[in-house]
Amino acid sequence: MNKLVYPHRSFMRTGVCDECAKKGTKFYNVNKNPYIGLMSCDDCIQEIKKYLQHTTIKADDLRKNFNQSINIKRSNDRMESDWVIHGDAFQEKKDGPFWVQVRNRHNTLSKLVKLSDVNRWNNRV
Ligand SMILES: [Zn+2]
Repeated sequence: MNKLVYPHRSFMRTGVCDECAKKGTKFYNVNKNPYIGLMSCDDCIQEIKKYLQHTTIKADDLRKNFNQSINIKRSNDRMESDWVIHGDAFQEKKDGPFWVQVRNRHNTLSKLVKLSDVNRWNNRV
């Protein structure tokens, strides 16, 4: 593939196609991240899906690397052990970090964290 277009934040359901800049008709979001993804026109769906494939890691594949529950460090620096991978990981730019949505088992909290931090907190380096 010559180029890669990375998923980005979008709060609008309209916009231009990330491939050809024509009027976008469908927003393909990263799994469990409704506002992050790529906009496509009717002609570029295959390209847009390919970009998403190359810039994301499936949540199921991530889960295979970890125990069922994972350690997540909260913003108060406390480590909690009852969190799970919730969505696909995605990269926002070339050589940038992968981000992944995690949530606690009670489903009362969710958080977007760097996959490299999740690896570190769970001794998967
Ligand atoms: Zn297009």
